[in-house]
Amino acid sequence: MFKTPRGTQDILPQDQPAWQHIENTILTLCHRYGFERISTPVFEDTGLFTRTVGEETDIVQKEMYTFKDRGDSEITLRPEGTAPVCRAYIQHGMHNRPQPVKLYYFATIYRYERPQTGRFREHHQFGAEAIGDKDPSLDAEIIHMAWKIFNNLGLKDLTTQLNTIGCPKCRPVYLENLKDFYSSRIHEMCGDCRVRHQRNPLRLLDCKNPVCQSAADSSPRSYDYLCPECGQHFEKLKTYLRILEIPFLLNHRLVRGLDYYTRTVFEVQPEDVGGQSTIGGGGRYDNLIGELGGPPTPAVGFATGLERIMLNMEKQHLLPKSNGGIDIFIAPLDEQAREKGIGLLNILRQEGFSAMMAAGEKSLKAQLRQAGAFSARYVIIIGEEEIKKNSVILKDMATGEQETIPANSLVNSISKRLKGS
Ligand SMILES: [Zn+2]
Ligand SMILES: [Zn+2]
Repeated sequence: MFKTPRGTQDILPQDQPAWQHIENTILTLCHRYGFERISTPVFEDTGLFTRTVGEETDIVQKEMYTFKDRGDSEITLRPEGTAPVCRAYIQHGMHNRPQPVKLYYFATIYRYERPQTGRFREHHQFGAEAIGDKDPSLDAEIIHMAWKIFNNLGLKDLTTQLNTIGCPKCRPVYLENLKDFYSSRIHEMCGDCRVRHQRNPLRLLDCKNPVCQSAADSSPRSYDYLCPECGQHFEKLKTYLRILEIPFLLNHRLVRGLDYYTRTVFEVQPEDVGGQSTIGGGGRYDNLIGELGGPPTPAVGFATGLERIMLNMEKQHLLPKSNGGIDIFIAPLDEQAREKGIGLLNILRQEGFSAMMAAGEKSLKAQLRQAGAFSARYVIIIGEEEIKKNSVILKDMATGEQETIPANSLVNSISKRLKGS
C-alpha cells in the first residue's frame, strides 16, 4: 500500500480546525500591519537558491530537492521563502511602487532533512517581507508582528534573541577577529567547523556541537565591531523594541543559517528547550535583491514554520479541538421522508445554515450517532407521522429535548434558536 513519503504528512479533517485557527490569527495580523499576500511557484530555477542562500550552507550542500526536468532545466523545490519573493519583486518591477512593499506568503517548503519531531521534508511556512527601505522601524515592525503572532496564539514563555551581523563594510574586520580568536582553538573543534573556519567563519558561532559551543561563548561579538551606520541602526532598533515592550536578549552567537543576512538577525525561541528549537526568525537582507540582479534594495523579513507553531501550541494545550460542527442534521425514516428531507436540506442551506442528511437506510439510532459524529446542534427527524401532519421533530442535541413543529415554520424556528433572531 502507498503511504506518504518519509518526512511528509497528511493534514486530516480533525486537524484542520487547528491549522485554520493559526492561519486566521496570522491573516488578521497581516491585515493590521498592512501586508499583502503573494504566492509564488513551488519550484524555481536552481540558481535562484544557490546564488542567494549560499553555496556553503547545509541547505544548498545537502538539503535541496534538485532535479532536471524533461526539458533539461535545473529545477529546485523551494527550500525557503524569501528568495522567490525577491525574484517576484524584481520580475514585476515592484520597485516602481511606493516603498516599502510589504508582502506575506503561506508556502510549502522542501528540505531533505532527517525527519524528527517538528521537522519535516515538506513543511508549511508563513513569511512576511518588508522590501524597499532601510529604516530600522521596519525591523522593529517585523519583530513586533512575529511576537504578536505567537502572543495572539496564546504561546507563553517565549524569548526574542537579537543580534546584528553588520554590513559588507564592517563585517570583514569582525570576521578577521573571529578567525584569529578561533585559530588557537580550531584543532579541538568538529570537522565541519574546521571547514567553516576557512570558508564561512560566521557559522562557527552556531555550531550545535557542545565543544564548539563553549568556544563560541567567549568569542568576539559582532555588535562590538559595527561601523557607525550599523551601530546607529542597531541602537534605533533596540529603542523601538523597548517602546513596543518586546523583551529581547542580545545573543552574539545568533547568525541564522543563510548567507544573505545583513545587520539585524533575530529568533523567537520557546524558553524550555534551551535555544534548540526556534519557532520563528528572520532579519535584514539589504543585498539580496541586488545580488539577484535587481536595483540595490534593502529589505527585512521573517518566517515561521506552522508545524513548529503547532508543536508548541500542543505542548501548551492551546490547540482548538473542533470547528464547531454543523447546525442541522436531517434524519429521514423512510423514502417519502427522504424526499421531504432533500427539499428541506436545500432550503436550510440557502438560508445560510450548515446542514446535511443521513445517507443510506439506517435506523434512527444509527442516524443520531452519525449526527453526533458531525457535532450537529439540531437533528430534524421525519417519519410517517410527520409526513402526514406536514411537521417535523426538532431535537436539540445538547439538551436532548425534542419538539414537533410545523414544517413551514421550521426555518423561523431554527433561526430563532441559532441566530437568536
Ligand atoms: Zn556596517
Ligand atoms: Zn563545530
